[in-house]
Amino acid sequence: MAVIGGGIAGLSAAWQVVTQHLGNEIVVLEGSPRVGGRLCSGQVAGQTVDVGAESMLVRRPEGLQLLAELGLTPVHPAKVGATIWSRGSQQPMPAGTLMGVPSNPSTLQGLLSADEVARAGAEQPVELKGDIAIGDLVERALGPAVVDRLVEPLLGGVYAGHARSLSAQACVPALYQAAAQGESLVATAQRASAAASQNGGSPVFGGLPGGIGQLPELLVAALEQRGARVRTGVVVRDLTRIVGGWRLTTGPTRDEQHLDVDGVVIASPARATSRLLEGWAPGAAAAIGEVDYASMAIVTYAFDAAASRSLRGSSGFLVPPVDGHDIKAATFSSAKWPWLSRVREDLTVARVSFGRFGDVASLQRPDHELAGAGLADLRRAIDGSLPEPRDVHVQRWGGGLPQYAVGHRARIDHARAGIPGDAALGLAGAAYDGVGIPACIASGRAAADLVVTRLREP
Ligand SMILES: Cc1cc2nc3c(=O)[nH]c(=O)nc-3n(C[C@H](O)[C@H](O)[C@H](O)COP(=O)(O)OP(=O)(O)OC[C@H]3O[C@@H](n4cnc5c(N)ncnc54)[C@H](O)[C@@H]3O)c2cc1C
Repeated sequence: MAVIGGGIAGLSAAWQVVTQHLGNEIVVLEGSPRVGGRLCSGQVAGQTVDVGAESMLVRRPEGLQLLAELGLTPVHPAKVGATIWSRGSQQPMPAGTLMGVPSNPSTLQGLLSADEVARAGAEQPVELKGDIAIGDLVERALGPAVVDRLVEPLLGGVYAGHARSLSAQACVPALYQAAAQGESLVATAQRASAAASQNGGSPVFGGLPGGIGQLPELLVAALEQRGARVRTGVVVRDLTRIVGGWRLTTGPTRDEQHLDVDGVVIASPARATSRLLEGWAPGAAAAIGEVDYASMAIVTYAFDAAASRSLRGSSGFLVPPVDGHDIKAATFSSAKWPWLSRVREDLTVARVSFGRFGDVASLQRPDHELAGAGLADLRRAIDGSLPEPRDVHVQRWGGGLPQYAVGHRARIDHARAGIPGDAALGLAGAAYDGVGIPACIASGRAAADLVVTRLREP
């Protein structure tokens, strides 16, 4: 059996095979020189830090479960709170919102004007005729300011997309279902907030000491110990159905190589997956090919600790795009992650992110300009002195995050229906049912289960 793509979804698919379906041979083929995809470590001032994804939701079980199976102990962010840099000042992140929908509109005071809070407090029912953009849904219910100053920055952080384009059904299903059943969005946020507080303050996010970017290599070591093979620098260019399974074509056109396997999990991003399906599942290929991606960049700065205390008071801030700043968020990594401040007392590490779907211009700058623009925004945002950084790391993420546009669920259902029912093939990864790390782990494991089930069928 083969897995195409060695991101967290593909590696999780392989892990499911070696732990749950013993006796199946498995090889992971990763096109780039390193495994991990969007999970990636880099160095800043001699310190290893995450330069891609940096934390995972632990209110879902899949991430913690994988760490436990690998014998790894998670770490959790410090409880220092976050802010929103809105209208020129840092406002505390309102407590108890569901992707920006407040459980109590009066908590928005300060972030929103009195009129805007009053509008949010006068929720209007929204009649749905199918999927709708989350921004349109919330705007009709609670007014545009809640979208512009809360939903938009929060969604920007998770999807690097625009609230008025992203699907409510796929991105915030609880709000979509509430609206579809004629229920109040605020009441839904209240229920979610009450359920969360019943968890007694248990952590929401987790990572690893040294960064979550270490996870892929640790997973590869565990996979190899159990007999799986993981090959990097092997792009799968073509996938064809043959009797008894699949033929994978790799290597340059002049020196093509073939690998024949009984089952396959495709865990590459949508465009590559679409190309691999084109020849024998054109409907699925077309539907998956419609999933667009946003490009992003993460700039990480290392400052002298003594001169950058202003980056210690919170875990960072989000930025409403309506204010027209360059950056869309900042994470004060040394304040957020106690392991980091412990191992490097001399440094304050902070990172900023750039790029939303369609926003190409801000990324089309050379690294030093991007880093300079990020630093300028950071200085403006904290309204405090910040020295020149000791070191800077710029990481580009071309096609970083899939966009779940309105109609995403139907598009993905259509794609799945386009894969012949008897094909020992599974689809995994961020393009389908969730972009977060736990969702990708779940999709990899489920895809592996599906392939093994199909292989057992007569
Ligand atoms: C900057 C950034 C920050 C993020 N922050 C967070 C966060 O803090 N928390 C969180 O939960 N999520 C975060 N995410 C989202 C999350 O990291 C990703 O959605 C997730 O890692 C995607 O995993 P994946 O395995 O589906 O895809 P990828 O990581 O994209 O892996 C796919 C792999 O397939 C390989 N590949 C492509 N084509 C081929 C081919 N033809 N043959 C062989 N290999 C191929 C690629 O090289 C790649 O390694 C972030 C994403 C980005 C971009």
